[in-house]
Amino acid sequence: MATWAADVGGTSIKLAVIDNDTILVRDEIPAEAEKGLNLALERMAETWMELTAKCSLTRDDCTAVGMAFPGVIDPVTERIWTTPAGKFDDSKDMDVQEWGKTRIGCAITVCNDANAAIAGEWRYGAARGCSNACMMTLGTGVGTGVIVEGRPLRGGHGLAGNAGGHLTINWDGVECLCGNIGCVESEGSSWAVKRQAHEHPLFSSSRLSKEPLIDYEAIFRLAREEDTLAKDLLERSLRAWAIGAVNMVNCYDPEVLILGGGVMRSADIIVPYIQEYIRKRAWAQWEVPVVPAKLGNDAGMLGIAYLAANRQGE
Ligand SMILES: [Zn+2]
Repeated sequence: MATWAADVGGTSIKLAVIDNDTILVRDEIPAEAEKGLNLALERMAETWMELTAKCSLTRDDCTAVGMAFPGVIDPVTERIWTTPAGKFDDSKDMDVQEWGKTRIGCAITVCNDANAAIAGEWRYGAARGCSNACMMTLGTGVGTGVIVEGRPLRGGHGLAGNAGGHLTINWDGVECLCGNIGCVESEGSSWAVKRQAHEHPLFSSSRLSKEPLIDYEAIFRLAREEDTLAKDLLERSLRAWAIGAVNMVNCYDPEVLILGGGVMRSADIIVPYIQEYIRKRAWAQWEVPVVPAKLGNDAGMLGIAYLAANRQGE
């Protein structure tokens, strides 16, 4: 038995046919998010059919379908409460369950993408064997997901555990994309660090101002070369992430804290910094291991496939 899985992003959609922890075959298609979710689902269904044929299976071999989506998903109805600004605007009015039953003959399990990623790491990756785990995905934004007492935390509307990057850590901070003030994300993310660089008094005379792109790749590289501004900006992001990590530990009491995202190419700097900060600042009298994610970009697809295949009822 196999599962159809999709990890929907703002620019592309990853698709796969999955058997437990094995991705049998995969593809990636443009999201074309401005055209809406309805059209995206049509293209996803076509791609799944092609992939199924490619691994010599039939439609009937694929008994579950799951979609990880970048928004708040109602835990009961699986309706989509929020979408990224200007993307998949029709999804709040859509009934994805009904669409699935009518168009592909199968209910689609819909789950927030951060929850899907931690579900993947929990079943097959860095939190395997744990009943309580937190994950922070650092970089473009700061995404979080939580497993508590052996299941993904959802809450009343699906927001629980996903807002770890949007807890205030600086009440004098700038407004975040989420509408809150001084979030972990508005203090430490690709978009925040770019703004901080331009506002810094050293910027015009710094090596960073000569870079074609001010991103974490440039900041980590120049910080390793002892550039003062890059070191300053990096320290600020690391501190934001570390304070966010302490918040996660204090809120959810994980057995392990997983860190993911593109910046983890510099795990040698990030992991020890956050580990030490948790030791010093968290209200935990025990060691909470900080570990890099193991499944990379596949975590979301493997996680949503697990959740879909183990869906209760129906
Ligand atoms: Zn925020």
